[in-house]
Amino acid sequence: MAQIIDGKAVSAAIKEQVRDEIAHSGISAGLAVVIVGNDPASRVYVNNKKKACEFCGIKSFEYALPEETTMKELLELIDTLNNDKNVNGILVQLPLPKQLDEKAVIERISPQKDVDAFHETNVGKIMIGNYSFLPCTPAGCMELIHSTGISVSGKECVVIGRSNIVGKPMAMLLLHENGTVTVCHSRTKNLAEVCRRADILVAAVGKPNFVTADMVKEGAVVIDVGINRLENGKLCGDVKFDEVSEKAGWITPVPGGVGPMTIAVLMKNTLTAAKIQK
Ligand code: NDP
Repeated sequence: MAQIIDGKAVSAAIKEQVRDEIAHSGISAGLAVVIVGNDPASRVYVNNKKKACEFCGIKSFEYALPEETTMKELLELIDTLNNDKNVNGILVQLPLPKQLDEKAVIERISPQKDVDAFHETNVGKIMIGNYSFLPCTPAGCMELIHSTGISVSGKECVVIGRSNIVGKPMAMLLLHENGTVTVCHSRTKNLAEVCRRADILVAAVGKPNFVTADMVKEGAVVIDVGINRLENGKLCGDVKFDEVSEKAGWITPVPGGVGPMTIAVLMKNTLTAAKIQK
Protein backbone atom coordinates (compact mmCIF):
# COMPACT_ATOMS: atom_id res chain seq x y z
CA MET A 1 0.00 0.00 0.00
CA ALA A 2 1.40 3.41 -0.99
CA GLN A 3 2.35 6.08 1.49
CA ILE A 4 0.23 9.19 1.04
CA ILE A 5 2.11 12.39 0.21
CA ASP A 6 0.33 14.99 2.30
CA GLY A 7 0.12 18.17 0.21
CA LYS A 8 -1.75 19.99 2.95
CA ALA A 9 1.07 19.46 5.44
CA VAL A 10 3.89 20.27 2.98
CA SER A 11 2.09 23.39 1.74
CA ALA A 12 1.34 24.54 5.30
CA ALA A 13 5.07 24.29 6.12
CA ILE A 14 5.96 26.44 3.07
CA LYS A 15 3.36 29.07 3.96
CA GLU A 16 4.64 29.15 7.55
CA GLN A 17 8.20 29.71 6.27
CA VAL A 18 6.99 32.60 4.11
CA ARG A 19 4.97 34.06 7.00
CA ASP A 20 7.93 33.81 9.39
CA GLU A 21 10.36 35.36 6.92
CA ILE A 22 8.00 38.28 6.28
CA ALA A 23 7.39 38.75 10.01
CA HIS A 24 11.10 38.66 10.91
CA SER A 25 12.54 40.60 7.98
CA GLY A 26 9.86 43.29 7.88
CA ILE A 27 9.72 42.97 4.09
CA SER A 28 6.48 44.25 2.68
CA ALA A 29 5.08 42.06 -0.12
CA GLY A 30 1.97 42.62 -2.22
CA LEU A 31 0.14 40.42 -4.72
CA ALA A 32 -2.41 41.72 -7.23
CA VAL A 33 -4.90 39.14 -8.45
CA VAL A 34 -6.92 39.98 -11.53
CA ILE A 35 -10.06 37.98 -12.27
CA VAL A 36 -12.21 38.64 -15.33
CA GLY A 37 -15.77 37.29 -15.54
CA ASN A 38 -17.76 34.96 -13.33
CA ASP A 39 -16.19 31.50 -13.65
CA PRO A 40 -17.08 29.78 -10.33
CA ALA A 41 -13.90 27.65 -10.23
CA SER A 42 -11.73 30.75 -10.81
CA ARG A 43 -13.61 32.53 -8.01
CA VAL A 44 -12.78 29.70 -5.59
CA TYR A 45 -9.08 29.79 -6.59
CA VAL A 46 -8.91 33.57 -6.16
CA ASN A 47 -10.54 33.38 -2.72
CA ASN A 48 -8.06 30.69 -1.65
CA LYS A 49 -5.17 32.87 -2.84
CA LYS A 50 -6.49 35.79 -0.82
CA LYS A 51 -6.74 33.61 2.29
CA ALA A 52 -3.18 32.38 1.82
CA CYS A 53 -1.96 36.00 1.47
CA GLU A 54 -3.70 36.91 4.73
CA PHE A 55 -2.05 33.97 6.47
CA CYS A 56 1.42 34.87 5.19
CA GLY A 57 1.16 38.62 5.82
CA ILE A 58 1.18 39.44 2.09
CA LYS A 59 -1.03 42.35 1.04
CA SER A 60 -3.53 41.23 -1.57
CA PHE A 61 -5.17 43.51 -4.08
CA GLU A 62 -8.09 42.05 -5.98
CA TYR A 63 -9.32 43.39 -9.31
CA ALA A 64 -12.60 41.74 -10.32
CA LEU A 65 -13.45 42.87 -13.84
CA PRO A 66 -16.69 42.22 -15.73
CA GLU A 67 -16.97 39.45 -18.36
CA GLU A 68 -17.12 42.01 -21.21
CA THR A 69 -13.77 43.67 -20.30
CA THR A 70 -11.79 44.68 -23.41
CA MET A 71 -8.13 44.01 -24.14
CA LYS A 72 -7.40 47.73 -23.88
CA GLU A 73 -8.91 47.93 -20.39
CA LEU A 74 -7.10 44.84 -19.15
CA LEU A 75 -3.73 45.91 -20.57
CA GLU A 76 -4.13 49.36 -19.00
CA LEU A 77 -4.74 47.74 -15.62
CA ILE A 78 -1.63 45.59 -16.03
CA ASP A 79 0.44 48.66 -16.94
CA THR A 80 -0.81 50.38 -13.78
CA LEU A 81 0.07 47.35 -11.64
CA ASN A 82 3.50 47.04 -13.31
CA ASN A 83 4.21 50.60 -12.12
CA ASP A 84 2.70 50.23 -8.64
CA LYS A 85 5.45 49.92 -6.00
CA ASN A 86 3.07 48.24 -3.55
CA VAL A 87 2.47 45.40 -6.00
CA ASN A 88 5.33 42.89 -6.21
CA GLY A 89 3.46 40.07 -7.95
CA ILE A 90 0.72 40.12 -10.59
CA LEU A 91 -1.45 37.13 -11.28
CA VAL A 92 -4.12 37.07 -13.96
CA GLN A 93 -6.48 34.20 -13.24
CA LEU A 94 -6.87 31.96 -16.30
CA PRO A 95 -8.86 31.07 -18.33
CA LEU A 96 -9.88 34.49 -19.62
CA PRO A 97 -13.12 35.21 -21.54
CA LYS A 98 -12.85 34.48 -25.27
CA GLN A 99 -12.43 38.08 -26.49
CA LEU A 100 -9.17 38.42 -24.51
CA ASP A 101 -5.82 37.22 -25.85
CA GLU A 102 -4.20 35.30 -22.97
CA LYS A 103 -0.78 35.25 -24.55
CA ALA A 104 -0.70 39.04 -25.05
CA VAL A 105 -1.96 39.58 -21.50
CA ILE A 106 0.77 37.41 -19.98
CA GLU A 107 3.44 39.11 -22.09
CA ARG A 108 2.36 42.51 -20.78
CA ILE A 109 3.11 41.57 -17.15
CA SER A 110 6.55 42.72 -16.08
CA PRO A 111 8.74 39.55 -15.91
CA GLN A 112 9.89 40.65 -12.43
CA LYS A 113 6.27 40.62 -11.23
CA ASP A 114 5.26 37.48 -13.14
CA VAL A 115 4.85 35.23 -10.08
CA ASP A 116 3.15 32.52 -12.15
CA ALA A 117 6.33 32.34 -14.30
CA PHE A 118 4.31 32.17 -17.52
CA HIS A 119 6.02 35.13 -19.28
CA GLU A 120 8.29 34.13 -22.20
CA THR A 121 11.30 35.63 -20.40
CA ASN A 122 10.71 33.48 -17.33
CA VAL A 123 9.93 30.38 -19.41
CA GLY A 124 13.28 30.88 -21.18
CA LYS A 125 15.08 31.29 -17.87
CA ILE A 126 13.57 28.05 -16.59
CA MET A 127 14.73 26.31 -19.76
CA ILE A 128 18.35 27.28 -19.13
CA GLY A 129 18.13 26.75 -15.38
CA ASN A 130 18.70 30.40 -14.43
CA TYR A 131 15.44 31.42 -12.85
CA SER A 132 14.00 33.62 -10.11
CA PHE A 133 10.56 32.03 -10.01
CA LEU A 134 9.38 28.56 -10.85
CA PRO A 135 5.89 27.95 -12.18
CA CYS A 136 3.70 27.23 -9.17
CA THR A 137 2.20 23.83 -9.97
CA PRO A 138 5.35 22.03 -11.25
CA ALA A 139 7.42 23.55 -8.44
CA GLY A 140 4.79 22.31 -5.98
CA CYS A 141 5.09 18.81 -7.48
CA MET A 142 8.87 18.93 -7.01
CA GLU A 143 8.41 19.88 -3.34
CA LEU A 144 6.10 16.89 -2.91
CA ILE A 145 8.66 14.57 -4.53
CA HIS A 146 11.37 16.00 -2.24
CA SER A 147 9.14 15.36 0.78
CA THR A 148 9.35 11.60 0.11
CA GLY A 149 13.14 11.73 0.55
CA ILE A 150 13.56 10.06 -2.86
CA SER A 151 16.18 11.65 -5.12
CA VAL A 152 15.18 12.36 -8.71
CA SER A 153 18.74 11.89 -9.95
CA GLY A 154 19.06 8.98 -12.35
CA LYS A 155 15.39 8.01 -12.02
CA GLU A 156 13.08 7.22 -14.93
CA CYS A 157 10.53 10.05 -14.86
CA VAL A 158 7.41 10.06 -17.03
CA VAL A 159 5.19 13.12 -17.37
CA ILE A 160 1.80 12.62 -19.03
CA GLY A 161 0.77 15.98 -20.53
CA ARG A 162 2.76 18.66 -22.36
CA SER A 163 0.94 21.90 -21.56
CA ASN A 164 2.97 25.08 -21.13
CA ILE A 165 1.59 25.46 -17.61
CA VAL A 166 2.22 22.00 -16.22
CA GLY A 167 3.67 19.24 -18.43
CA LYS A 168 6.57 21.04 -20.16
CA PRO A 169 7.94 22.93 -17.14
CA MET A 170 7.48 19.80 -15.00
CA ALA A 171 9.66 17.86 -17.42
CA MET A 172 12.27 20.61 -17.29
CA LEU A 173 12.40 20.67 -13.48
CA LEU A 174 12.84 16.88 -13.34
CA LEU A 175 15.61 17.19 -15.93
CA HIS A 176 17.34 19.91 -13.88
CA GLU A 177 17.47 17.38 -11.04
CA ASN A 178 19.04 14.79 -13.34
CA GLY A 179 15.99 12.63 -13.96
CA THR A 180 15.73 10.73 -17.25
CA VAL A 181 12.55 12.30 -18.53
CA THR A 182 9.93 11.12 -21.02
CA VAL A 183 7.01 13.41 -21.90
CA CYS A 184 3.82 11.72 -23.11
CA HIS A 185 0.79 13.25 -24.84
CA SER A 186 -2.28 12.30 -26.84
CA ARG A 187 -0.20 10.89 -29.74
CA THR A 188 2.08 8.76 -27.58
CA LYS A 189 2.08 5.10 -28.59
CA ASN A 190 2.02 2.33 -25.98
CA LEU A 191 1.35 4.80 -23.19
CA ALA A 192 0.83 2.14 -20.51
CA GLU A 193 4.16 0.53 -21.38
CA VAL A 194 6.02 3.86 -21.24
CA CYS A 195 4.37 4.76 -17.92
CA ARG A 196 5.29 1.40 -16.39
CA ARG A 197 8.97 2.34 -16.78
CA ALA A 198 8.51 5.31 -14.46
CA ASP A 199 10.05 5.48 -11.00
CA ILE A 200 8.36 8.88 -10.83
CA LEU A 201 5.09 9.30 -12.73
CA VAL A 202 3.40 12.69 -13.04
CA ALA A 203 -0.14 12.79 -14.47
CA ALA A 204 -1.32 16.14 -15.89
CA VAL A 205 -3.94 15.05 -18.40
CA GLY A 206 -7.25 16.48 -17.18
CA LYS A 207 -9.14 13.17 -17.49
CA PRO A 208 -10.65 11.54 -14.41
CA ASN A 209 -9.19 8.16 -13.38
CA PHE A 210 -7.02 8.04 -16.52
CA VAL A 211 -4.00 6.36 -14.92
CA THR A 212 -4.83 2.80 -13.90
CA ALA A 213 -2.79 0.28 -11.91
CA ASP A 214 -1.56 -1.53 -15.05
CA MET A 215 0.24 1.72 -16.05
CA VAL A 216 2.20 1.96 -12.80
CA LYS A 217 5.44 0.31 -11.73
CA GLU A 218 5.47 -1.36 -8.31
CA GLY A 219 6.77 1.15 -5.73
CA ALA A 220 6.66 4.21 -8.03
CA VAL A 221 6.12 7.79 -6.83
CA VAL A 222 2.84 8.92 -8.41
CA ILE A 223 2.02 12.64 -8.54
CA ASP A 224 -1.54 13.44 -9.61
CA VAL A 225 -1.91 16.99 -10.91
CA GLY A 226 -5.42 16.50 -12.31
CA ILE A 227 -8.38 18.35 -10.87
CA ASN A 228 -11.57 17.04 -12.45
CA ARG A 229 -15.09 17.66 -11.25
CA LEU A 230 -17.36 14.64 -11.57
CA GLU A 231 -21.09 14.80 -12.28
CA ASN A 232 -21.81 14.18 -8.60
CA GLY A 233 -19.85 17.36 -7.81
CA LYS A 234 -16.89 15.54 -6.25
CA LEU A 235 -13.29 16.34 -7.18
CA CYS A 236 -11.20 13.59 -8.70
CA GLY A 237 -7.66 13.38 -10.01
CA ASP A 238 -6.23 11.86 -13.19
CA VAL A 239 -5.15 8.76 -11.27
CA LYS A 240 -7.48 5.93 -10.24
CA PHE A 241 -6.49 6.32 -6.64
CA ASP A 242 -7.97 3.15 -5.12
CA GLU A 243 -6.18 0.69 -7.40
CA VAL A 244 -2.98 2.68 -8.03
CA SER A 245 -2.41 3.22 -4.29
CA GLU A 246 -2.24 -0.59 -3.93
CA LYS A 247 0.76 -0.66 -6.25
CA ALA A 248 2.63 2.65 -5.95
CA GLY A 249 5.17 3.39 -3.23
CA TRP A 250 4.02 6.99 -2.79
CA ILE A 251 0.95 8.78 -4.08
CA THR A 252 -0.68 12.22 -3.85
CA PRO A 253 -4.42 12.35 -3.10
CA VAL A 254 -6.94 14.64 -4.82
CA PRO A 255 -7.92 16.85 -3.11
CA GLY A 256 -5.11 17.50 -0.64
CA GLY A 257 -2.13 16.75 -2.88
CA VAL A 258 -0.82 19.07 -5.60
CA GLY A 259 -3.70 21.61 -5.30
CA PRO A 260 -2.62 23.28 -2.05
CA MET A 261 1.02 23.29 -3.20
CA THR A 262 0.29 25.59 -6.13
CA ILE A 263 -0.88 28.35 -3.81
CA ALA A 264 1.97 27.82 -1.34
CA VAL A 265 4.54 28.26 -4.14
CA LEU A 266 2.69 31.37 -5.28
CA MET A 267 3.22 32.85 -1.80
CA LYS A 268 6.91 31.92 -1.96
CA ASN A 269 7.23 33.50 -5.42
CA THR A 270 5.57 36.71 -4.24
CA LEU A 271 8.06 37.00 -1.39
CA THR A 272 10.93 36.31 -3.82
CA ALA A 273 9.57 39.02 -6.15
CA ALA A 274 9.40 41.51 -3.26
CA LYS A 275 13.01 40.72 -2.30
CA ILE A 276 14.25 41.12 -5.88
CA GLN A 277 12.41 44.41 -6.34
CA LYS A 278 13.76 45.83 -3.08
P1 NDP B 1 -4.16 20.65 -20.86
O1 NDP B 1 -5.53 20.26 -21.32
O2 NDP B 1 -3.56 21.92 -21.32
O3 NDP B 1 -3.14 19.47 -21.24
C1 NDP B 1 -3.49 18.14 -21.14
C2 NDP B 1 -2.40 17.29 -21.71
O4 NDP B 1 -2.81 15.92 -21.60
C3 NDP B 1 -2.10 17.56 -23.19
O5 NDP B 1 -0.72 17.67 -23.39
C4 NDP B 1 -2.68 16.35 -23.90
O6 NDP B 1 -1.95 15.95 -25.04
C5 NDP B 1 -2.54 15.28 -22.84
N1 NDP B 1 -3.50 14.20 -23.10
C6 NDP B 1 -4.83 14.33 -23.33
N2 NDP B 1 -5.36 13.11 -23.59
C7 NDP B 1 -4.35 12.23 -23.52
C8 NDP B 1 -4.27 10.82 -23.72
N3 NDP B 1 -5.34 10.08 -24.05
N4 NDP B 1 -3.06 10.23 -23.58
C9 NDP B 1 -1.97 10.96 -23.26
N5 NDP B 1 -1.98 12.31 -23.07
C10 NDP B 1 -3.17 12.92 -23.21
O7 NDP B 1 -4.22 20.58 -19.26
P2 NDP B 1 -3.27 21.26 -18.13
O8 NDP B 1 -1.88 20.81 -18.31
O9 NDP B 1 -3.56 22.69 -18.04
O10 NDP B 1 -3.91 20.57 -16.84
C11 NDP B 1 -3.89 19.17 -16.65
C12 NDP B 1 -4.70 18.82 -15.41
O11 NDP B 1 -4.09 19.44 -14.29
C13 NDP B 1 -6.14 19.36 -15.43
O12 NDP B 1 -6.97 18.43 -14.73
C14 NDP B 1 -6.06 20.64 -14.64
O13 NDP B 1 -7.29 20.96 -14.02
C15 NDP B 1 -5.02 20.26 -13.61
N6 NDP B 1 -4.29 21.39 -13.05
C16 NDP B 1 -4.13 21.40 -11.70
C17 NDP B 1 -3.45 22.40 -11.09
C18 NDP B 1 -3.26 22.34 -9.61
O14 NDP B 1 -3.05 23.35 -8.98
N7 NDP B 1 -3.30 21.14 -9.02
C19 NDP B 1 -2.93 23.56 -11.85
C20 NDP B 1 -3.05 23.41 -13.28
C21 NDP B 1 -3.74 22.36 -13.84
P3 NDP B 1 -1.87 16.85 -26.40
O15 NDP B 1 -0.90 17.95 -26.09
O16 NDP B 1 -1.37 15.89 -27.42
O17 NDP B 1 -3.27 17.35 -26.64
